[in-house]
Amino acid sequence: MLSGKKIVVMGVANKRSIAWAIARAFHDAGAELVFTYQNGRFKDKVEKLVGEEDMSGSLLLPCDVSEDAELDNLAEELKSRCGRINGVVHSIAYANKEELAGLFADTSRDGFLLAHNVSAYSLVAVTQRLYPLMEEGSSIITLTFQGSQRVVPNYNVMGVAKASLEASVRYLAADLGPHGIRVNAISAGPIKTLSAKGVRNFNRLLDGIEEKTPLRRLATADDVADTALYLAADMSRAVTGAIHYVDCGYHIMGT
Ligand code: NAD
Repeated sequence: MLSGKKIVVMGVANKRSIAWAIARAFHDAGAELVFTYQNGRFKDKVEKLVGEEDMSGSLLLPCDVSEDAELDNLAEELKSRCGRINGVVHSIAYANKEELAGLFADTSRDGFLLAHNVSAYSLVAVTQRLYPLMEEGSSIITLTFQGSQRVVPNYNVMGVAKASLEASVRYLAADLGPHGIRVNAISAGPIKTLSAKGVRNFNRLLDGIEEKTPLRRLATADDVADTALYLAADMSRAVTGAIHYVDCGYHIMGT
């Protein structure tokens, strides 16, 4: 489904990362991958994973999305080393741990701005630099959570940042549609990852969800990866600006 496509995967921290499940699915589907990592701490982890999975042809590049110089450097490196690309997976979010607990009303100005900078604006910052390298038919995919639409205990400022991210998806989709580039978000159900651990009582959030979802189970990173595969492939060529739920139907339930 992705043979001949070069796709940039941003947001692998470890083997539990949703971005890693997506990378494996894309690799199996024939994509050539470029991984970006936040800093040296994650570089070693990504290198190890890429080696273990035999993705040795993949390129690894640094990119802290809160640094304009690193974003500019990423665009330059991609231009000189890949030429054209066919898509980006943006699987990145961050908020201070203390803002992911207690009252949303207690969110600090700095904490609000940090969460929005890394978790929402970064999609815009990445897109504005990389879309000139994209061929027609390219696909940009980001990851969101239902806490953007409903109040989820302790998700707080991240829910507000995800609402901004989802609105950004729509505006970017409208901007880039005429270039033949699609922009979509996957709204994943809760999955135990490094980021999820930052939300206080995340495990309690999972309690009882299985019984409440129409499919009577939790979505996995592999479920998300298969939907990402569809969104990256030509099969979804008429889909853009969508927030696509991969949560075993939990979002349709009243309680
Ligand atoms: P994760 O911790 O594995 O991935 C988050 C990634 O964000 C990490 O690789 C981290 O290095 C990166 N990141 C943070 N700040 C960065 C920065 N300044 N520059 C570059 N990279 C930075 O966790 P995950 O759950 O796989 O999260 C991936 C995406 O999925 C996030 O957007 C998250 O909000 C979203 N999501 C997660 C869940 C869940 O329950 N785990 C549900 C819905 C959506």
